[in-house]
Amino acid sequence: MSDLIMTVDDWRSWGNANDPAMLIAGPCSAESPEQLLDVANHFTSLGIGIMRAGVWKPRTRPNSFEGKGIEALKWLAELKNQFQIKIATEVASPAHVEQALSHGIDVLWLGARTTVNPFTVQEIANSLRGTSVPVLVKNPINPDLGLWQGAIERIYNVGVTKLAAVHRGFSSYQKSKFRNSPTWQIAIELKSTFPSLPLICDPSHIAGQRSMILEVSQKALDLGYDGLMIETHPDPDRALSDADQQIPLQEFGDLLSQLRFTRKHSNDALFISQLEQLREKIDHIDQELIEVLSLRKQLIEKIGEYKKENNVTVFQLERWNEILQSRTAWGEAKGLSDQYIQSIYRSVHDESIRIQTEIMNKETEKKKE
Ligand code: PEP
Ligand code: MN
Repeated sequence: MSDLIMTVDDWRSWGNANDPAMLIAGPCSAESPEQLLDVANHFTSLGIGIMRAGVWKPRTRPNSFEGKGIEALKWLAELKNQFQIKIATEVASPAHVEQALSHGIDVLWLGARTTVNPFTVQEIANSLRGTSVPVLVKNPINPDLGLWQGAIERIYNVGVTKLAAVHRGFSSYQKSKFRNSPTWQIAIELKSTFPSLPLICDPSHIAGQRSMILEVSQKALDLGYDGLMIETHPDPDRALSDADQQIPLQEFGDLLSQLRFTRKHSNDALFISQLEQLREKIDHIDQELIEVLSLRKQLIEKIGEYKKENNVTVFQLERWNEILQSRTAWGEAKGLSDQYIQSIYRSVHDESIRIQTEIMNKETEKKKE
């Protein structure tokens, strides 16, 4: 899809080199100096090197908590005086970039609602020119690989080489067990396009509930992701944003100890599990199958109209026998069993008859009027 050859820095050069994977954790939002102090204390004992905390919160509906803004940047700057910890926060405009950098924020990220907008991404990219701050780019809210790649390219093109992608899942109208459907194959395709780009999973925004964070994190690690960004809070039930998905700080060490970190080999850039790749191909083929079935249905409808106009019966025994014979032979030539092809065609034919009968009846009703 993209012919850009991207060479970004190894995350260990700007993350915590000793971590088995790049770990970023912390509250969804910076809420108070006490909350941040609690998190930083805890992370120091766990050895977490990068703490996340949102200060400008992109909320779906107005009148929700929108972050503490500059006030929170000051708390974070103060925290860095007391702890050996790097701080990451979300930026959604050039003004945010400027304010975050002037308060010593170490890592910036573009949120899902920013990545969707190439104008904003470009403005942010322009404001990053000449800086050396690491930047993480979350996937856009919609499952659009091109948009995600495009945002990453815009940031890379201004000279940012401390760069990583964050997979936080994709919004969907359909209800599912996830808050944001992971659709893993999109992230996997991103990684195959930009093999040197670190890929981090944000299980919190994918899962939307704390009981699933372990499972989603493990899946990402098993797929060879380079890191995790996990929301944790001293008292999640009282969190001002994303209360359901934040892990209580006290349980976070336990969660980490349950994770199996699998070390990747250096030649593993295309790391992707074979199974996921094959499944992705199956998904594409199935989409084509459905497409072809829908084209077939359109023809069936035309035939139905034609038969009605010419007063011909829906079911034509000769034609059916001919279909069954020829398709069985075509299938055989491709190594598909008679039984398999015949059972598929029985069901395809049944549906044709149903559709055509419906057309006949509809037309008859019209005539009656
Ligand atoms: C967040 O990280 O708290 C956040 C708002 O994330 P996203 O942009 O993935 O929704
Ligand atoms: Mn959040």
